[in-house]
Amino acid sequence: MRTLVLNAGYEPLSVVTSRRAAVLVMHGKASVLAEDHTPIATPSALVPRPAVILLHHYVRVSRRRPAAPSRRSILRRDGRLCTYCDRPAATVDHVIPRARGGDSSWENLVACCGTCNARKGSKTLDELGWTLGMTPQAPPHHVWMPVELDAPRDVWMPFLTHASSH
Ligand SMILES: [Zn+2]
Repeated sequence: MRTLVLNAGYEPLSVVTSRRAAVLVMHGKASVLAEDHTPIATPSALVPRPAVILLHHYVRVSRRRPAAPSRRSILRRDGRLCTYCDRPAATVDHVIPRARGGDSSWENLVACCGTCNARKGSKTLDELGWTLGMTPQAPPHHVWMPVELDAPRDVWMPFLTHASSH
């Protein structure tokens, strides 16, 4: 079982095994915010199995700029919706086409559906008469989440919503 670890400021920090989480709780380093129904059997007792824990001390996370974007991280940033038509997107588009000198940066990549991607080709927005409804940018630090959160457990959801509403 996986346990969501929240930093002392309540933002998601990492995902660990529930046994590892139980050890942190037993050592007084974290509190249980949600638990699973099946306890953990230790040699001496049954202990609650944490589903979500909160660290008591803030863990400093380096504030380095997010890594270069991937298709997956662009789709996640843009809610998996096409920037141009709002339909489900599975591809990314270079706003300034690569053939025109556009780079593969957070600022030049947007989620895009296959239809719009094919129509856009190597044209610029000006040539097509299209506009961007937003300014693409690197995600702020606080929505930078562990990769495991691509497959969040249901019991984590209230805590993830809390984090992204800040
Ligand atoms: Zn589209």
